[in-house]
Amino acid sequence: MITHRIAVPLAGILAGTSFLFVQPAVASPPGVEKKPVAEGYGGAVSTVDLDASKVALGVLRQGGNAMDAAVAAAATLGVTEPYSAGLAGGGFIVYYDARNKKVHTIDGRETAPRAMGPTSLEGIPFEEAVTSGLSAGVPGSVAQWELALRRFGTLSLKRALDPAIEVASKGFKIDQTFYDQTASNAARFKDFTSTAKLYLPGGAPPPVGSTFRNPELAETYRQLGKRGGDWLYKGSLGAEVVATVKTPPVTPGSTRKVRPGLMEASDLRAYRALERPPTKMTYKGMDVYGMAPPSSGGSTVGEALNILEALPRVGLHEYLEASRLSFADRGKYVGDIPGVPLKELLSDGFAKERSCLIGERAMPNPAPPGDPDGRYGPCPAAPSVKATETPAEGPETTHLVVTDRWGNVVAYNITIESTGGNGIVVPGRGFLLNNELTDFTFGPAPGDPNLPAPGKRPRSSMAPTIVLADGKPLLALGSPGGATIITTVLQILANRWDFGMSLPEALAAPRASQRNTAQTQAEQGFIDRYGAELTLRGHSFAPTPEIGAATAIEFLRHGRIQAVAEPVRRGGGSALVMSERR
Ligand code: GLU
Repeated sequence: MITHRIAVPLAGILAGTSFLFVQPAVASPPGVEKKPVAEGYGGAVSTVDLDASKVALGVLRQGGNAMDAAVAAAATLGVTEPYSAGLAGGGFIVYYDARNKKVHTIDGRETAPRAMGPTSLEGIPFEEAVTSGLSAGVPGSVAQWELALRRFGTLSLKRALDPAIEVASKGFKIDQTFYDQTASNAARFKDFTSTAKLYLPGGAPPPVGSTFRNPELAETYRQLGKRGGDWLYKGSLGAEVVATVKTPPVTPGSTRKVRPGLMEASDLRAYRALERPPTKMTYKGMDVYGMAPPSSGGSTVGEALNILEALPRVGLHEYLEASRLSFADRGKYVGDIPGVPLKELLSDGFAKERSCLIGERAMPNPAPPGDPDGRYGPCPAAPSVKATETPAEGPETTHLVVTDRWGNVVAYNITIESTGGNGIVVPGRGFLLNNELTDFTFGPAPGDPNLPAPGKRPRSSMAPTIVLADGKPLLALGSPGGATIITTVLQILANRWDFGMSLPEALAAPRASQRNTAQTQAEQGFIDRYGAELTLRGHSFAPTPEIGAATAIEFLRHGRIQAVAEPVRRGGGSALVMSERR
């Protein structure tokens, strides 16, 4: 068991009064074990990882708020889930502020360097881009953590990093998921001296059950805490990142073709995390808030929910078809560009028009995008805009949810894109670089809203989501899984509200993901249960071992909170509550 502590004065706000206290080192709170469902009062957390959940709970117990806990947990995931999250990645936070009863979002998405243009990725094999300096976007997480803490937290970055430093120094137990992710990356990790040294000690993945320490990351976090984000964005850590991107530390004798990147110190200096208005739509009287562009999460989940609401009945066939249509529109209209027709994509009129296309049988593939022009007639013929398939996108990131005793809520997706990012550890610093720029359309694709451009953020599918009912938080959720994030969030919401499942059932249920492709990706459990019936209606399925790794919190009656993680996927997650009794 890993202990964690914040052995330093921790500023917090309790019941409206500022206070400062010193907390001695604490062992993990008693009764803290890895389980997927926890119910209780006074705050809660759900992440994919027990250590990260314990860190969040520790911060809450010591008077920190949900944002403090979320940043501390995210930094800890950079240690224990380093192939999905880290300081050199990016992410999106959707935040309910209990004080002003508003939903805010913070965009910490990576950016393309200024030297990148629409043809920079053209013709490059996807697999080659995955492991390259070229795919490394300007990191957003550190700027996002600082902005999140400044705007909504009570801790300094230094304090928020303390628990992660402790986990990195003392180490954590390697589980099967960590081992498998290391093993599946070994072929490329060995091609970089820095990565092989850290993650393949002695030439092989460290075994399940052994303790993994990352003293270099601990020191990096320590320095980051002391010097602040400027160390990365204006200082020598940034210079090291740029040097690594431009001249990746390729192992002598490796035959891998590793393309250098275009990032310069000036790109780091130009980086900003941004507050943006959330997307908002209403489903069955509940207000669903999500992430706006550059993520397609909020608009695509929202459009699909609107389509479902426009239909006389909702079953799995309708879920798949609504998803197909909203992905067609996502591909055509959503990216980090001016003028995304968000209002129309999320309008009831557009959804009604789109819903007319859903019949008894699955639509021919690919479905063409609609025309969100504000003029919607009754059930028109399919528009003649050219249809394109959704390109492949990487599968891994992580999501966490936290709520505190004041009622603030954080839904936070953090990522370095592929499992293992671009495979390149910054020498001596203990963290991997992202390969987020592979989320751009490689082209040629004239008119595509997601082609690279200087300073542009690649379109994301991350969909941290907060739902309010009568103005109060009801549900917060999200998942990893590349473009399947959108369908996982949508399916959980449909499971909960249309198919009558409890939240734990809604997360555990087998998943399918239709993203305007001929075949629907589906877990075997889904195919076994529903495949025959849906095949009769024209669907066909491509089995996939696992879709998503969701985390969620539901606010029950009388202040009771239910935190939920995956029971099985990705080795199961960890849900914790502050107190089981009121
Ligand atoms: N890069 C992905 C996105 O932004 C997130 C990482 C993943 O889950 O693939 O949509």
